[in-house]
Amino acid sequence: MPFHTLLPTVPPSLKPLVLILAAVMGGLAGVLINYLADVLPGSRRLSRPVCRACSQPFSLKGYLFAFRCPNCSAKPSVRSLLVLVGAVVCSLLLRVFPLFGLGYWASLPVLVFLGVILVIDIEHRLVLFETSLFGIALFLVYGILLHGLRVTLLGALAGFLIMFAFYLLGVVFVKVVGRMRSKQINEVAFGFGDVMAGIFLGLLVGWPGIAGAIVLAVLIFGAFSLVLLAGLVLSKRYRAFASAQPFTPFLILGVVIIFYML
Ligand SMILES: [Zn+2]
Repeated sequence: MPFHTLLPTVPPSLKPLVLILAAVMGGLAGVLINYLADVLPGSRRLSRPVCRACSQPFSLKGYLFAFRCPNCSAKPSVRSLLVLVGAVVCSLLLRVFPLFGLGYWASLPVLVFLGVILVIDIEHRLVLFETSLFGIALFLVYGILLHGLRVTLLGALAGFLIMFAFYLLGVVFVKVVGRMRSKQINEVAFGFGDVMAGIFLGLLVGWPGIAGAIVLAVLIFGAFSLVLLAGLVLSKRYRAFASAQPFTPFLILGVVIIFYML
């Protein structure tokens, strides 16, 4: 028996060069997520990024490589660094454990799109209508390639109906509580952006995966809210409804879990 057959074989996805490429691609994905999350909530288009402290537009080189704003020398946000590190880690994980049915390269656009949705929802409590439309077009293609047209459209319909029911329940809940305390509450439990997220995530995972993803999202959201509530009560910072959490990040988490369970 030749000697080299006795050595443990390294799977192709773990060769150093492959991992270095995945780290670089993750860094690029992180830059793209940061850029889109910087400009889309304000301008709703691919505009020039501006400094969040002094609103001076950045040059391309300044935006990508300067670590301080040339005008007011503001430092980059903590979020920019977190997104960059997070995207590199996710890219490496996707290289080793690709999403079910998708190769590594096909997973990258999913990573960028969901990253943008996640960051904007956490920072602005908002799923932009424009990004939702883009997501519907993108995940219609992914859905058809992954599970065929019927399962994909059923997934979108189920995602829409379940999230729309939550949305209506939230509206009724806020009205009832508002009447009980005889004042108007402006915060809604579920926004219409969450309904749009139900549609594009439904296209991506199809039926019945989307139902499982929403159940998981509700369970994790509930557990997270309880822990948060306990923390706020213990630290005496609790004010009713002042701490409503964005729901779409939990939907995305549910979808990722479903991808690895199927
Ligand atoms: Zn500045």
